[in-house]
Amino acid sequence: MTTGIAGKVNTGGQMRCFLANNMPDKSIIINYKLCDFKQCIDGICRAKSECEKKVLKQEAPFEPPYVITSLCSGCNKCIAECHSNALEKSR
Ligand code: SF4
Ligand code: SF4
Repeated sequence: MTTGIAGKVNTGGQMRCFLANNMPDKSIIINYKLCDFKQCIDGICRAKSECEKKVLKQEAPFEPPYVITSLCSGCNKCIAECHSNALEKSR
């Protein structure tokens, strides 16, 4: 079974849209209502640094992270690294 998610994230006045279709059930998802990326040290997502598979990406420091869902193994190691509890299992 696959799921999809869509939404918008406000990045310093700019609204960005994201859409992830055919998201694997095991993938991690980011709750952008909780993700406080501007407060992460040097603007770097701590959870991104923890992911060995490089699933979490940022275009630049102080930009919101996003997930390459097809690469995610669902190991959940990144969840504990987020101080904002913004990372969730997809189900
Ligand atoms: S560690 Fe958490 S709050 Fe910080 S950028 Fe990553 S997901 Fe967002
Ligand atoms: S669940 Fe595992 S593979 Fe997926 S983003 Fe988190 S650390 Fe990376």
